[in-house]
Amino acid sequence: MQTCLPIESAFPKAHHSLQSRVVWGSRVVTVGGDAPVRVQSMTNTDTVDAIGTAIQVKELALAGSEMVRITVNTPEAAAAVPYVREQLDRMGIDVPLIGDFHYNGHRLLTDYPACAQALSKYRINPGNVGKGNKRDTQFGQMIEAALRWNKVVRIGVNWGSLDQELLASLMDENSARSAPWDARQVMYEALITSAIDSAQRAEDMGMRRDQIILSCKVSGVQDLISVYRELAKRTDHALHLGLTEAGMGTKGTVASATALSILLQEGIGDTIRVSLTPQPGEARTQEVVIASEILQALGLRTFVPSVTACPGCGRTTSTTFQELAKQIDDFLRAQMPVWREQYPGVEGLRVAVMGCIVNGPGESKHADIGISLPGSGEAPAAPVFIDGEKRLTLRGDNIAQEFQVIVENYIEKRFGAHAVAQAS
Ligand code: SF4
Repeated sequence: MQTCLPIESAFPKAHHSLQSRVVWGSRVVTVGGDAPVRVQSMTNTDTVDAIGTAIQVKELALAGSEMVRITVNTPEAAAAVPYVREQLDRMGIDVPLIGDFHYNGHRLLTDYPACAQALSKYRINPGNVGKGNKRDTQFGQMIEAALRWNKVVRIGVNWGSLDQELLASLMDENSARSAPWDARQVMYEALITSAIDSAQRAEDMGMRRDQIILSCKVSGVQDLISVYRELAKRTDHALHLGLTEAGMGTKGTVASATALSILLQEGIGDTIRVSLTPQPGEARTQEVVIASEILQALGLRTFVPSVTACPGCGRTTSTTFQELAKQIDDFLRAQMPVWREQYPGVEGLRVAVMGCIVNGPGESKHADIGISLPGSGEAPAAPVFIDGEKRLTLRGDNIAQEFQVIVENYIEKRFGAHAVAQAS
């Protein structure tokens, strides 16, 4: 007879990276080591517009972004950075700002010390710091600024702007091999070598290893998995993970979720960004929502109460349950910036909104609070389950509003100050 052993639960492997500290004022965002995988994002405003940029940073931070990157591409943008910081401080948004530098970062960080100081981390692209003998000098100037102001850097390699001299030299080496690698493998090697050699150069100048975060971004899912698996083998630096130019809408969301989930499950990746192209009219915060959802779906973090909703089928004759599921989901998400402070632990709440009697009562009982709406042919009644038990039945035209009030009361009772005082 076959021995029956309990089936092992799947869970992401532990991370084995160094821990970086990204600091603004008294706010410290740890990245790597035993820190939770961090969510970050990037603005798409012109940084010269300090107010507009600060507003978007605020929106991203309130949506759950724990660090926000801004473009620093011109002297005017560098001059605006301290004002962006000041606006955020005035609004009480203490999210650390990351400066994204290409081509002229060495000059901007040297000529605008207030900018260098106001940023909490610098992103340096080794493929865009200069060519020939200027490359090391200009890279060195950026590292000197990081040392002077005690900042973390991300050495962020991107296959769209890979160091062409390094790639050419690896191609030459490859052609001398008895069995040359294919071009893709040489490109992988170039991405990783560029990141690791640049980190070594920064360390030689005096940076601590834990002040350096690495990334090697590509736009193909299998390429990203191949590169990061190898990168994680070769270094213990904290890793910033993301698919570059993921694309729009469903394609960008699915590609990012697929690539990031596989790597995160293997314990690879300490901070993530979903580089989604916003659809016309879509909020920039969507990339933060998706990044958070990936981490929450993997069981790595909990950000917002989860709403379990069935897909609906031929047993549902109206869109009522779809509307209610969306309404409850939107409501919970919109309340989170306030509830996070007011109701500690509320992010772990599980709500179910189901379409009929087949799975409705069962799924609702598994949730903290659930509603099973009537399917076609069923009595026009919606039983509500709280903590696994049927407590009441809603009827009539105001089921959505009444259920929302029930959810709010449940949250107040379970997570409010009164509940906390009783527990202590
Ligand atoms: S719970 Fe009912 S309505 Fe929802 S998918 Fe299942 S059978 Fe269809």
